[in-house]
Amino acid sequence: MPDLNAVVAEIAEEMRQRTDRGEVATYIPELAGVDAGQFGIAVIDADGAVTAGGDADVPFSIQSVSKVFTLTLALGKIGDRLWRHVGREPSGSAFNSIVQLEYEQGIPRNPFINAGAIAVTDQILAGHEPREALGEILRFMHFIADDPSITIDEKVAASERRTGFRNVALANYMKSFGVLQNPVDYTLGVYFHHCSIAMSCRQLAMAGRFLAWRGKNPTTGHSVVSPERARRINAIMLTCGHYDGSGEFAYRVGLPGKSGVGGGILAIAPGIASIAVWAPGLDSVGNSHLGRIALERLTKRMGWSIFGD
Ligand code: GLU
Repeated sequence: MPDLNAVVAEIAEEMRQRTDRGEVATYIPELAGVDAGQFGIAVIDADGAVTAGGDADVPFSIQSVSKVFTLTLALGKIGDRLWRHVGREPSGSAFNSIVQLEYEQGIPRNPFINAGAIAVTDQILAGHEPREALGEILRFMHFIADDPSITIDEKVAASERRTGFRNVALANYMKSFGVLQNPVDYTLGVYFHHCSIAMSCRQLAMAGRFLAWRGKNPTTGHSVVSPERARRINAIMLTCGHYDGSGEFAYRVGLPGKSGVGGGILAIAPGIASIAVWAPGLDSVGNSHLGRIALERLTKRMGWSIFGD
């Protein structure tokens, strides 16, 4: 087996040098100023050893990667009843598309497109004050990452709230079908804030450990979800984690993964590693351009694709 340290160092060096870096998301003005020259990677093995490279300790806006954690939290709260409000099929359309919602009576295709994640957030909110729901989400992040220093970037959240017209449209549309139960403003407030959680690659890979090790943090032994639920969340990450680029990600990387428009990707090699990469420049479907290439290199060199080496 190749030496992981050497492979990660090579990948970080290649990504540092590449000039094709994709485009930073600009529709959230606060993200438009992020330096596209950055790249980070962190890989955590079963013993908790971290192999990191590049800007692995620089916090970035995790954006839609947070949807993995809100899905986990909502399933913990209401179990399979969640699937009355959101489906679990790949959408084949853009992350912020409204088209499918009309055909499908306001029920979003899956929890990882924006509409689906807003429906999930609405279930976490469940009549509580937005502040309480956000506190719950943040406490959950602290628990799974073993790190109470993780916070929300209020500037990014405010920037999203000012310009999130599409998300407002999606939420109102779902509300008109009775899919959302709370005031749209409340649900969106929580949604914008959980998308604005800031984490480094190291912290994000730490938070993903329960997905790689059958629902448990292998270091502390703390159980987060059942093995069955971890397996199912991984399945949804594989099929829906990269919007309409999910097929391409499975084809090239071969791991369950979730991307965000901040340029982060959490990828899970079940039983082997929890991996986070970050490169702010995106490809045409809104996934990290160099992040995907870095993961493709890693799984190929290490033989970690779930489909074989
Ligand atoms: N907060 C972003 C939005 O709602 C998340 C999109 C993403 O990361 O893909 O547009």
